[in-house]
Amino acid sequence: MSDCIFCKIVNGEIPSTKIYEDELVFAFMDISPINPGHVLVIPKEHHVSCASIPEETAGRIFHIASRVGVACKRALDIPGFNLHLADGSCAGQVVMHAHLHVVPRDPEDGFRWNWRQTKYASDAERESIASGIKEKFKL
Ligand code: AMP
Ligand code: ZN
Repeated sequence: MSDCIFCKIVNGEIPSTKIYEDELVFAFMDISPINPGHVLVIPKEHHVSCASIPEETAGRIFHIASRVGVACKRALDIPGFNLHLADGSCAGQVVMHAHLHVVPRDPEDGFRWNWRQTKYASDAERESIASGIKEKFKL
């Protein structure tokens, strides 16, 4: 897409620090990292949502992100990493070209996901919500 910043990165119209590229995916350094070594893995084809990415490309994105995570562990001598994807602005997606974040983690990095854990009012509520999701689930 012509006005998409990540399409421009794929096409070389905007500079990036490339980590990996193949016919389906492109991986590059995030310009404002959560931690040093933060990488973005994206489909070369423009997709706003991860849900519209063809299965082969989506699988490749996950595979490459995992391998980049392992490379970060080795290169940065850190014990773990997070994979994160925001789908939709309410979920925190700012760049509307789907991307998977690889965030290197260190026990002392001071970063905490703002994560909360709630409870269903009842087992019946959980089951009812699950039924609704299963009804709408399509491959
Ligand atoms: P999200 O909030 O999931 O949409 O994340 C977008 C990410 O893209 C942020 O982490 C930004 O730092 C990153 N970003 C935006 N512009 C660039 C750029 N030109 N090069 C590298 N990373 C970028
Ligand atoms: Zn794009």
